[in-house]
Amino acid sequence: MGRAAVAVLRISGPDARRALLLLAGGLPPPRVAQRRRLVDPQGGDVLDDALVLWFPAPRSATGENVAELHLHGSRAVLASVMQALARLGLRLAEPGEFTRRAFLNGKLDLLQAEAIADLAAAETEAQRRQALRQLGGELGDIYRGWRDRLTRLLAHLEAAIDFPEEDLPPEIEDRILGETEGLVSEIEGHLADAHRGERLRDGIDVAIVGPPNAGKSSLLNRIARRDAAITSPVPGTTRDVIEVAIDLGGYPIVLADTAGLRDSGDAIEQEGKRRALQRAERAEIRLFVFDAAHPAEAAGSSVWPGADTILVANKIDLVPDASADLPYDVLSISALTGEGVDKLLAILGERVAQTYCLATPVLTRARHREALEEVVASLRRSFSTALPELRAEDFRLAVRSLGRITGAVDVEDLLDVIFRDFCIGK
Ligand code: GDP
Repeated sequence: MGRAAVAVLRISGPDARRALLLLAGGLPPPRVAQRRRLVDPQGGDVLDDALVLWFPAPRSATGENVAELHLHGSRAVLASVMQALARLGLRLAEPGEFTRRAFLNGKLDLLQAEAIADLAAAETEAQRRQALRQLGGELGDIYRGWRDRLTRLLAHLEAAIDFPEEDLPPEIEDRILGETEGLVSEIEGHLADAHRGERLRDGIDVAIVGPPNAGKSSLLNRIARRDAAITSPVPGTTRDVIEVAIDLGGYPIVLADTAGLRDSGDAIEQEGKRRALQRAERAEIRLFVFDAAHPAEAAGSSVWPGADTILVANKIDLVPDASADLPYDVLSISALTGEGVDKLLAILGERVAQTYCLATPVLTRARHREALEEVVASLRRSFSTALPELRAEDFRLAVRSLGRITGAVDVEDLLDVIFRDFCIGK
């Protein structure tokens, strides 16, 4: 609740029709906006001059009767209309209740419900695109496709159990095995996504590392354009990890400044170093910052090998740029004047876009990952047994794990397939 030009009140459930009739004096045609004067059914007070919509079940967001009141967005208008509705016996929705009802009424699957939450929380373009894609059902289609294939294979296995006198012909047995192996490798390929979807949802980790006093905090501040980290001329002041969330070309980045990497007897600083190392190891991309006056410090970057480290020579406002002499690709900047920082951000943005511009839908939550790992484990286990009953049970577990992702957990599907593929009654 706040102050706005327009506030939309959404009413869902069996009483929506009665509430709209009583307040607006009639129902507009379905899905057509009409201007109506809203009147308090008790006392006849005019509450607002509003736009109203009517979505009869099942063609509504929740699958139930839904009415929408587009009101003037003041607290007083909202309060009076809500009071009138409360007197009719309506109550406020619980958090997520509209989406929950939509799920229960089969309007969307669990993945789409999660996508709605992600869309509402999206802070960058890439997050918005990923959530919309999931809402569109692309991810659900992949999982449902796998589940259908598994269910079909299970149905064949079940048939072998139900009619033991008719042994499964070896070529069918081979086909089941081959198809299962194919499915397992597809799911494993999907799992081997370097957690890109989850990282896109939560923010891509970039760590600033390097020796003390190289200007790491200054760089973070320059990038964040605010004083998120404390800079100081005394080495070793950044004793913890400081994070700043930034939007880099539409991608969510969590930039972390880590404590100076140097050996010291100070226990607190040692702890800072340990955390810095841990954080840097976890990061997708590392910016190794060193003082351009001490290029030998860059040699320390050998601690961080790999293409995911960008070497940054800082303080080129003080010393002539000597990076050309180094045997590495180095980006020269000055955190103080800002020189070179835009170029650094452009390079960083390019690397992120290369990795995270996703052509195929990827899994976005640990919940999906766990379920898929269970599927693979169950199917792998099924390979190790020759007993059809045990094998079928492993398949059943796998089908159930897959179903949990989208929220479909019934066995009716299985019966449908059995009766469709086999003429059991013949
Ligand atoms: P950190 O220990 O790596 O986080 O380094 P700080 O960001 O705290 O910087 C250490 C000192 O170097 C501070 O006094 C900064 O003002 C100074 N400093 C950082 N970057 C630059 C720069 O580009 N040019 C100059 N002249 N000084 C800088």
